[in-house]
Amino acid sequence: MKLKKSLIIVAAIVLAIAAAFFKNTNTNADAINDLAKKSDYVGTTFLYQWLKTQNIRYNKFYEQNKIVYRKGKPEGVVIHETADPGASAKNEAIYFNRDWNKMYAYVHAFVDHGTVIQMMTPDYGVWGAGPNANDRFIQVELCEENNRNDFAKSVNNDAIWVAQMLHRYKLKPTNATHNGQGTIWSHLAVSKFLGGTDHGDPDGYFAKWGYSMDQFCDLVTYYYDLQEAKQKKPKKEKAVNPEDLIKAIPKVKPGESILMRDAYVYDKSGKRIKSQAMKQAGTVIKIKSSKTIKKTKYYEIGKNKYIVAANVDGTMRTLIHNSYIYDTVGVRSGNTKLLKGNAIKTYGSPVTIRGEKYYAVSATQFVKVDNFK
Ligand SMILES: [Zn+2]
Repeated sequence: MKLKKSLIIVAAIVLAIAAAFFKNTNTNADAINDLAKKSDYVGTTFLYQWLKTQNIRYNKFYEQNKIVYRKGKPEGVVIHETADPGASAKNEAIYFNRDWNKMYAYVHAFVDHGTVIQMMTPDYGVWGAGPNANDRFIQVELCEENNRNDFAKSVNNDAIWVAQMLHRYKLKPTNATHNGQGTIWSHLAVSKFLGGTDHGDPDGYFAKWGYSMDQFCDLVTYYYDLQEAKQKKPKKEKAVNPEDLIKAIPKVKPGESILMRDAYVYDKSGKRIKSQAMKQAGTVIKIKSSKTIKKTKYYEIGKNKYIVAANVDGTMRTLIHNSYIYDTVGVRSGNTKLLKGNAIKTYGSPVTIRGEKYYAVSATQFVKVDNFK
């Protein structure tokens, strides 16, 4: 009797602790989402563009492995976790770009607290979660973080990117992790419901932070709804003067200039120096001298190192249409247009962003070439 009573007491204590623990994990997970929502999206960096600035060749996965989705378009997104402590999204991107054909693995994006790197177009499948999932889903890897704040930021970036993908393919956010039905999957859910793979990520890693796929799905839904509300807003076509829209050139020290367009480095005979990484727009340079090589003006920026002068000085061009401004990844910035008839400064030769030709009008802003005379 006495024994029984103490057993009941022990059981009650265990239950109370379990309840407290459960409550605590829930609160913690909600707090992670609250914390996540406080940070801004870092923006999407496209691997092929970023690799140019690192002087690394882009090793196109989908040119050699065209994985066509079984229904012609993605049916959802699989959430992964790298299980690679200390490796950032950029580290992973370089590694996978180099070695996917040896590792037999590739995904659409790597995400950490500071970067979202999109590896390739989500129009084709990848090698991320076995044969049953690869021709159905977009797949994204979350990198491991070592503090709660960065974890929340990384989850925030992940959720926003996933919500954008769902919009892009007209998919509604639904949690597939409990019954194998829906658009948001974990690798674990693929293992459970589709097979062909046996990984359990990202659930184990999420649990480490008191977080779960359910909470992650809530966060994706939150952003999906926000993005939808934004899209539904009526588009006003206001037109304003260039000075109000184009970013002013930042002030630099005397003798310094700012590179306004990504620029290759050439030698004194105008031959591209392949070992030199492309100089990124926005970089501060020191011009030592100028030189005309084969009718093109160059600036010397280092010993036997030249860049095309038009990438710094610019050329005035007149707009023949009211024109939107686009960002570095070809996303329109706002609904305000530059007025036709205005002459604005463009820098260097046209830039191709997602197959369209643009002129740089500042280090980070672009206008479609067709809009100029
Ligand atoms: Zn995985």
